[in-house]
Amino acid sequence: VDLSLILLHHPMHDRDGKTVATSLTLNDTQDLARSACTFGIHTFYVAHPSAMQRKLGRRLKIHWQEGFGATYNPSRKEALTLVELVHDIDEAILKIELRTGKRPKLIATSAKAGALRVGFEALRQDLQTSDHPHIIMLGTGSGMAPELLERAQIILEPIYGPGEYNHLSVRAACAIILDRLCARRS
Ligand code: SAM
Repeated sequence: VDLSLILLHHPMHDRDGKTVATSLTLNDTQDLARSACTFGIHTFYVAHPSAMQRKLGRRLKIHWQEGFGATYNPSRKEALTLVELVHDIDEAILKIELRTGKRPKLIATSAKAGALRVGFEALRQDLQTSDHPHIIMLGTGSGMAPELLERAQIILEPIYGPGEYNHLSVRAACAIILDRLCARRS
């Protein structure tokens, strides 16, 4: 399956439910790039509306691809090649449409339960037989604003622990989601 990943920073909810643009972090970018590379993701888009923040992301990519980082840590270099900075989800959709000739299906993720959530196993099966590109959408802050969630054709069921507490970092959530959807099964 042609599967891409996008880390979104706007429109995001903050703790008070206000719509904000969160800051791009170098930690998220390189950690998610390594998970994306491990699980065979085609492209890892990092979306931010601020040109300054996208420039920061590009500087990170260059550092690990050409700078000291490339020689010091070649596996990090390989993971960072998957990273593409974009303005928003629409730019990522357009890039995939140009590359594949098909409009990608959006898979939203969230810790919050809700109607029409798709299970991991069902989605894993669908992805294995689908000839359609898909993008998994990951949020930051306190999760994606409704207008972003509503754009998705698929909303993945939350990862749940045994209890009520459910505050995973996007890095932890991404690795769990990709493992459940893409891991090789012996
Ligand atoms: N409660 C927020 C939420 O809506 O998920 C937490 C946001 S968390 C810091 C950032 C992102 O990690 C979320 O937008 C989602 O993509 C992912 N995430 C966090 N916890 C998750 C969970 N339990 N199940 C699925 N995705 C999760």
